[in-house]
Amino acid sequence: MNIILLGPPGAGKGTQAKRLEALYGFKQISTGDMLRAEVAAGSDIGNEAKAIMAKGQFVPDPIIVAMIQSRIAQSDCERGFILDGFPRTESQAEALDAMLSQRGLTIDAVILLDVNEDELVERIASRRGEDGTRRPDDNPDVVRARLDVYRKQTAPILPYYEKAGRLLHVDGMKDVEGVGKEIDAIVTAAKKH
Ligand code: AMP
Repeated sequence: MNIILLGPPGAGKGTQAKRLEALYGFKQISTGDMLRAEVAAGSDIGNEAKAIMAKGQFVPDPIIVAMIQSRIAQSDCERGFILDGFPRTESQAEALDAMLSQRGLTIDAVILLDVNEDELVERIASRRGEDGTRRPDDNPDVVRARLDVYRKQTAPILPYYEKAGRLLHVDGMKDVEGVGKEIDAIVTAAKKH
């Protein structure tokens, strides 16, 4: 099963994607994690992305689309995948449809984590990675920039999925298990189709 998780930064996409991966074996594909790995490795892509990410802006679409294209072609995605942090622009959403139809794949569920944006800045400011460290772009100024970019560039793709009757809303303000249960219900319903 292939799933898209949508929602602003801090909505819990990564947490829920990891939960789904552990429960169902669908592979989490996080463009943010992939980019952070490129930055850590000091690759050409990482060097280009580093300053952009530090400002909370978007890495150019062609880089992101190429990353996704090669990632979904890998064998560990055969059981399904969860797109976490992609698509984030209209052009990425269109590129995704094109690459899926080329591979004969479809998206089974597009899930939007509905959250109260006022609480996100606080939520992100207090989050830490598994190793206890904080992401450099999780400071309040950059978080506000990321929310702004989300509103301007990512929120406009929601009608694209809504119009097609494909957007499923989940209450992202519940605790991790509460949100997880709502997503489980969607996965169970999608499996019956
Ligand atoms: P995330 O971990 O998903 O919050 O992503 C961290 C940062 O990586 C974002 O603020 C962007 O700078 C960059 N990024 C991640 N995914 C994308 C994407 N789909 N398109 C453009 N930039 C991205």
